[in-house]
Amino acid sequence: MNSPDFSKMKKDCQNQRECFEILQSIIDGEATPQQKEHFMKEHLEQCMPCYKSYHLEVAIRELLKAKCSQHAPQELVESIRKKVIENLAQ
Ligand SMILES: [Zn+2]
Repeated sequence: MNSPDFSKMKKDCQNQRECFEILQSIIDGEATPQQKEHFMKEHLEQCMPCYKSYHLEVAIRELLKAKCSQHAPQELVESIRKKVIENLAQ
């Protein structure tokens, strides 16, 4: 996936909740390849909040995988999430 042009992206998402559920299922591997392709191409590259939250979720999962072999405590997830959000905001 090429890095999208942020200046052309939407700054708000009308259905961010719904989008978030779809992107969670994509990351979890539960979405079908068609759902994934459609969402990535038709939405993610044009929608800034969803683009960011997608990369945030991916980053969190990778960090968790790298840091813990067992189920991560919620506080750790939250502290990682905060750090990643700070990075994205720069
Ligand atoms: Zn969206």
